[in-house]
Amino acid sequence: MTTKIPEFSTLAVHAGASPDPATGARATPIYQTTSYVFDDVDQAAALFGLQAFGNIYTRITNPTTAVLEERVATLEGGTAAVAVASGHAAQLGVFHTLMTPGDEFIASNKLYGGSINQFNHSFKSFGWNVVWADPDDLASFEASITPRTKAIFIESIANPGGIVTDIEAISVIARRAGIPLIVDNTLATPYLCRPFEHGADIVVHSLTKFLGGHGNSMGGIIVDGGTFDWSKSGRYPFLSEPRPEYQGLVIHETFGNFGFAIACRVLGLRDLGAAISPFNSFSILTAIETLPLRMKKHCENAFEVATWLSNHEKIEWVVYAGLESSPNHALQQKYSPKGAGAVFTIGLKGGYDAGVALVSKVSLFSHLANIGDTRSLIIHPASTTHRQLSDGQKANAGAGPEVVRLSIGIEDASDIIADLDQAL
Ligand SMILES: *Cc1c(COP(=O)(O)O)cnc(C)c1O
Repeated sequence: MTTKIPEFSTLAVHAGASPDPATGARATPIYQTTSYVFDDVDQAAALFGLQAFGNIYTRITNPTTAVLEERVATLEGGTAAVAVASGHAAQLGVFHTLMTPGDEFIASNKLYGGSINQFNHSFKSFGWNVVWADPDDLASFEASITPRTKAIFIESIANPGGIVTDIEAISVIARRAGIPLIVDNTLATPYLCRPFEHGADIVVHSLTKFLGGHGNSMGGIIVDGGTFDWSKSGRYPFLSEPRPEYQGLVIHETFGNFGFAIACRVLGLRDLGAAISPFNSFSILTAIETLPLRMKKHCENAFEVATWLSNHEKIEWVVYAGLESSPNHALQQKYSPKGAGAVFTIGLKGGYDAGVALVSKVSLFSHLANIGDTRSLIIHPASTTHRQLSDGQKANAGAGPEVVRLSIGIEDASDIIADLDQAL
């Protein structure tokens, strides 16, 4: 028997999975069931009281989804994970566990446009108040902390600008304030960046993007780093106070370094209900087996396309942290040294109209609102994903009128370049 610790590519294929105990099936089966028969009344009571682990109902746990959860937790280096219906459901689940009405959290102003909307609108109606800070000005995070601040939220590589955030510096600010750092690691994936190694406490993903990777399944996941002391300050009552519906059980005390994941499951999934379908868990799990191969190719292609674009006469600028000319290059070398990801933005000399023309003329590229597909994708954020934001928010998020976002696929780089060439 080998005692060697498996490498990332090996874990991407194997972590969490073993042949099906009932049938010997080598691929993880799709357990397409809503519910599970109890052994007897005592076992049922233990499951409902959280005194035993087991399946009750697929809104809360499912055996196919459990393999996906263990695989992503392993790849990120966390203690446990909870898969949910979408990336936004993951964010909702995290904040539901942390916040009470009137609380605040600090978020980077360089985020996926959908997250800016979620935080500015629906979260505010729950009484969860976002305070925006600028990752290029770390003092703005420190200055935003109040006694009601419960967390800091950033992206490792920020969508759409492909901007790399200084995770370690922000984690120091969070630790000093006694609050957890949440990192959305969607654009990097654990292949490129592992935020727990840089001081993050919670990682969230949209599995819909590179982890699922084929543009066919929605999903999200919350990963517990097991690093945060939820009992110390008394400011996280979901975790540190007795739960009346579980006979007074205290979640952090009982479940320790995976208590946060348990709370997201037995309170968040139970009550918010954003469960992932077992079929989606299966397709995302299958995709993760090839994550290292795909990410390597995505990054190589993106670098080649970004380099070509940066020399094109109709392009004003290219924001891609993989280019040596990028002000973000040093942070990319530190946090994502194997590559800068495959999502980046370009500024067209012709402004808004040129952006609209480019997305209309491409043919290999698909004009749509997604990233992280095997296929190359293109969008003009100002007329689509970032349309609802004010001009100031658009500019902050790197989505001004001249900006086009590309998500480079795993086709042959020469074909991707040829398509952009004819369209420009
Ligand atoms: C897409 C995305 C989300 C939201 O995920 P959904 O699966 O679409 O709900 C969150 N963060 C980032 C960085 C994303 O790209």
